[in-house]
Amino acid sequence: MKKDFTPTLLDFGPVQVYLARHFGFCYGVENAIDIAFRTIEENPGKRIFLLSEMIHNPQVNADLQERGVQFLQDTYGKQLVPFESITKDDVVIIPAFGTTLATEAKLRAIGITVEKYNTTCPFVEKVWNRSEQIAKKNYTVVVHGKPTHEETRATFSHAAYHTPTVVVNDMAEAIALSKYITGEKEAAGFYTEFAGRYAEGFDAAKDLQRIGVVNQTTMLASDTQAIADFLKQVMLKKYGEASNNTEEHFADTRDTLCYATNDNQTAVYGLLETAADLAIVVGGYNSSNTSHLVELCEEKLPTYFINNEEKILSSSLIQHFNFHTKQEITTTGFLPQHAPVKILLTSGASCPDALVEGVIAKLISFFSVQKTMEDITAAFNNA
Ligand code: SF4
Repeated sequence: MKKDFTPTLLDFGPVQVYLARHFGFCYGVENAIDIAFRTIEENPGKRIFLLSEMIHNPQVNADLQERGVQFLQDTYGKQLVPFESITKDDVVIIPAFGTTLATEAKLRAIGITVEKYNTTCPFVEKVWNRSEQIAKKNYTVVVHGKPTHEETRATFSHAAYHTPTVVVNDMAEAIALSKYITGEKEAAGFYTEFAGRYAEGFDAAKDLQRIGVVNQTTMLASDTQAIADFLKQVMLKKYGEASNNTEEHFADTRDTLCYATNDNQTAVYGLLETAADLAIVVGGYNSSNTSHLVELCEEKLPTYFINNEEKILSSSLIQHFNFHTKQEITTTGFLPQHAPVKILLTSGASCPDALVEGVIAKLISFFSVQKTMEDITAAFNNA
């Protein structure tokens, strides 16, 4: 069935909010949160650790911490609680992004059953399986992802167990990699240029002859597609268009984005078809999938990336995150003076719906609206 990606209009009169058709929590995040809270209930009196942030949402993580859960590592893999202090009687939860084989081995050595409280999203595991399939056909895996992101580190580790693997962050790095494929650059330079991004034993002279691309599930679909198309063309040029040469050198992986990332991104394209004054994207500042939604909106109109309604300081002031500079900034006059003000609204896969509701409530509080949130919801329920 074809999905509908037209936004939902919440018409309050002087302010009109266009809500993306798909936004917010995905299956993987809901599942991970369920398991985490169940784990707390099932283990009274035990120390409960989360390997790293459960998901990239500060409210959810703060909630878990309030209930006594501690983080073993920060989101970049820095150790917060030494592994040596963990005992077999502790509970360790694996987050939705999954983890590396090395970390799993460390935990097993302590006596922790890693399978018991493992919230790794099945869509992340699907990428690992896809990598394994192409590895069996002797392809090298190119992971399109953010090198320091938990999920990319986990995917890299799983792929590298089976086959030579390298991570590229963006098209610029895919172009850099292509120079070692074509021979434009000496293989020896690869190890410095891709330091920390390739699997142990990677042989740049041999391991770039057959490749397949997989991605961190939350990358921008159009970026992954562009990188895969580009590398395929590089292979075509190098090995010739005749016969089956391309398949011989480039595995058809199709993209490995998850359904939620796909739906949320496609819904933003649908949202952007509406002419509006501004866009607000709600989500954790270190959330990859959310920052990609921001990226799409920014191309079209003023966009404000906030993690909750408290960032809307008044009808003219908003505190928001610039993910390019990684800084929170304050903008004055973010709401235009005309009526109706048209606002596009969406949120990332790790953002609870209540936060989006809070943002709508805050926005309408600045206008003299005839309809309340309840009126609008009731109209939908009766439709
Ligand atoms: S964004 Fe996709 S891969 Fe990530 S947790 Fe959600 S469903 Fe799973």
